[in-house]
Parts: sequence; structure tokens; C-alpha cells
Amino acid sequence: MTVRTRVAPSPTGDPHVGTAYIALFNLAFARQHGGQFILRIEDTDQTRSTDESEQAILDSLRWLGLEWDEGPDVGGEYGPYRQSERKDMYKDFAMRLVEEGTAFLCFRTAEELDELRESRKAEGKHTALKQSDLELPQAEVERRMAEGMPYVVRMKVPEEGVCVIDDMLRGPIELDWGQVDAQILLKSDGMPTYHLANVVDDHLMKITHVIRGEEWINSAPKHKLLYQYFGWDMPQLCHMPLLRNPDKSKLSKRKNPTSILYYQRMGYLPEALLNYLGRMGWSMPDEREKFNRDEMFASFDIQRVSLGGPVFDQEKLSWLNGLWIREELTTEQFAEQMQKWALNPEYLMQIIPLIQPRVEKFSDVAPLAGFFLSGMLPISAADFEHKKLDSEQVQRILQFSVWHLDQQRHWDRDTLFAELKGLADGMELKIRDFLFPLFVAIAGTSQSVSVVDAMSILGPDMTRARLRHALEIAGAPSKKATKRLEKEYRALSA
Ligand code: GLU
Repeated sequence: MTVRTRVAPSPTGDPHVGTAYIALFNLAFARQHGGQFILRIEDTDQTRSTDESEQAILDSLRWLGLEWDEGPDVGGEYGPYRQSERKDMYKDFAMRLVEEGTAFLCFRTAEELDELRESRKAEGKHTALKQSDLELPQAEVERRMAEGMPYVVRMKVPEEGVCVIDDMLRGPIELDWGQVDAQILLKSDGMPTYHLANVVDDHLMKITHVIRGEEWINSAPKHKLLYQYFGWDMPQLCHMPLLRNPDKSKLSKRKNPTSILYYQRMGYLPEALLNYLGRMGWSMPDEREKFNRDEMFASFDIQRVSLGGPVFDQEKLSWLNGLWIREELTTEQFAEQMQKWALNPEYLMQIIPLIQPRVEKFSDVAPLAGFFLSGMLPISAADFEHKKLDSEQVQRILQFSVWHLDQQRHWDRDTLFAELKGLADGMELKIRDFLFPLFVAIAGTSQSVSVVDAMSILGPDMTRARLRHALEIAGAPSKKATKRLEKEYRALSA
């Protein structure tokens, strides 16, 4: 048997360090066994998937040195490797289950489902929705079908009992069937859900080991059942511990930058970031902290993964990166890496249109554009003094902006401007005054190039990190004040 592993990101946002972490362990496992590593794009959620996100994922995984043997950009024997291009296939598989009686067409409307949930709640029922809850009399099914009403395909799921999942790291895991919904396999628009597409593709792509985040454990019973219904062998499952913030909560962009693009912009070396990801829950047999990818692969053993939640700590990463910079780079390589990092034409071409109208000589450039090459800025509370805004207003603007931008999915200049203008109007502030604390947070001074352009170039994670840093410097609101602000913000954005 040839070992085949895969990473299957959904292209719905910035490339996440968690994706790189999972990719690294899949690649290490494949290489250790002389097998293949596949990259598959799971873009069945067509409203959230974007081409830019897919490109950024491919670019950043490649930047880290994670190369795949098969994928949407390199092809391979089992393609296409983008689920949107495999759409028709999933429908046939779903219909096969319907014909065989292990799945059914469900014509329930959204309102009916809401009612069902409400009435079950009222009855104190805490089990999942099953076929028996959803079934309609045959005549009603036929009527709805004849009327062309939309339907989904759902899988049948046992009403009760225990499902045992074998996990390579955890051994047998018992999950209660009572908590598993009659999962939708095919949506009313004909697109498959993650569960169907994932199982069909893992089978057709001959995946032997599924190494993924532990947040997927609860999906495993559905997958096991689908393999059974189709009569296919199930790959071995391995659920990796989730990355955590230093406070042990699940790594999230609200607390910690999660985008690989942020770590790139901060000037971490890809080798060091990959090294650090290799330290997440795993260690070299000799416990050494600094190692490169090939050293990791040569000593790899998945059983050395420990299940205690690995903490992704920027300070620790910086320390390791420092070792790499000092010990691994010659002067020439340092210069080369600096150029690649930020003194490259692509980055400079984004910045130059903003600064060219404002400089008289090249020596004006560094003071004006230095913040494009920085991490957190050396600002102080005094920098936020403004004749029309008191410190409470400054806090409010920064805090509202953080909340608002946390939800922002499109990160282009015009959208950002429209969003911030909307917020300023809601707060009854002139956009000029509103933007003042943002200028200080992002550029270190209000005498700067357009802050909205700067935010779009720096990207969401760097922007958020600087805004949060600014909020700390300007004086983060107390817990009580935050509660009040939250209320105000909710009223504003309602
Ligand atoms: N598309 C899923 C994700 O975004 C893949 C999960 C899996 O590996 O099964 O993480």
C-alpha cells in the first residue's frame, strides 16, 4: 500500500497557520513512508470561497516549503483537485444512496425546520434531528416533488447506540449516535456538503491516512457511516490537537494573528515558522528545538504527537526565528532575504504610488514609509491627543474599529473605506476626526499617506494587531466599559 495523505483547505479567507500545521504533519507522514501528499481545495461553499483565497493558500504553503505531489496547480492522476470542478460526481453518489435506501430526499422548508427545533426544545429533547423527525407522509412528498419544491438529500443515521472511531493518536473514541443529525449530503442547489464531498474524494483519491484537526472528530461517525454505505474501506483517522492561544483558548484571529501572510509581513523566515509549527505537539527524539524540514521528516513518528493543546506563542516563535537569522544566514543571505521580504518590486509597487506624490528626495522615503516595514509601532498615549476627541472617544473609535474589522471579509481599499465611513457616520463623527486614531495606530502619525490604503496593503492581521496594540497604549476600556461599548456597538451595527 502506498501511503497517501492530503490537506484539504477551504479557500474562504486568509491562509491560516493551522492549515500549514496540518499540511506539515501530512507531508511528514507521507515522506516518512515514501508516500504521496495531495492538496485538495474544498470550495463547495460557493458563497464564501474565492480565487484570491485559494491563490494565497497555495502561495503561502509553498513559501513555507510545503510541496505537494498532486494538486489543482500541478495536476495528477486523480484530479480535478478542486471540488467545484467535481460537482456532478457528488450528485450521482448521493442519488446512489437514495436508491439504496441509506439516504432520503428531504422537502422540509426552513420554517418547518425552525418549528421542529423549537418544539423539540420545548419538549426538552436534546438529541439530533433524525429521519423519523423529518419524514413527511408519502403523498405530501409527492405533492412537493410535483410542485418542484426544493429538497436536500440527507443520510440516514442510527437513532441511538454508540459509534466507535479508531484514532491513530487517541485509540478508540466513543461517540453517541443520538447526537448525530441526519446530515445533509446534497444541498438544494445541487452542491454537496463537506461530509459527502470529503468522503467521496478521499476514496477516489486513494487517501490512506486522514490527518486533520481535532475539530473534525464529531464528523467522524458520519464519515464512517458513509464509507459503510458505499462499501468502501475507510482511511485511518488521526486527529491532531488544535493550536491554542497563550491563554489556552482555541487559536483565533480575535486574539492572535492567524494568517500566514501576517507572519510573512512581520519578517519571519519560512524555515523558522515551519520549524515552529513542527514543534506544535511534536518534538525531535533528542528534544532539540531548532531543526529543518528534512531533519524533521527523517526523524518523524506520528506517535510522538502529544495531545496537550500546543500553544502558538509569537514570543517563542520570535526567539526561534532569531536563532535562524543569527545562525543560518550569511551576510549575503541576510541581504537577499531582506530583499525578498519587503524590498521586492511587488511590495514596493504597492507603496510607491502612495508616497511618490509626497517626497522630494529618496531620503524622505524611509520616514514616510517605515511603517510598511515594521511590526508594532513605538507609539505612546500622547500620540492620541486630539483637539476634538477626548480619550474616551479615541478608545471607542479604536474598539469599534477592531470589532468591525474582525468581521470584515473583503479587504480591498474601497470596501474598507465604505465600512469605516459607515461606522464614522453611525458614531456621528466626521470621517477626518474618526480616522485620526487609526492613523496613529497604523502609521504612527496622522501626517501619513492614506490610512485606508495602508490598511489594505498591510493586510487584515497586521491591521488588527496594530489596532489592538493601539488600544492598549491609548488605554483599553475596563471590563465594565467594554460591556457598555459592546451594547453601543451592537445598536450601531444593527
Ligand atoms: N475542508 C476542511 C477544512 O477546511 C477539511 C477537513 C478535513 O481534513 O477533513 O479544514
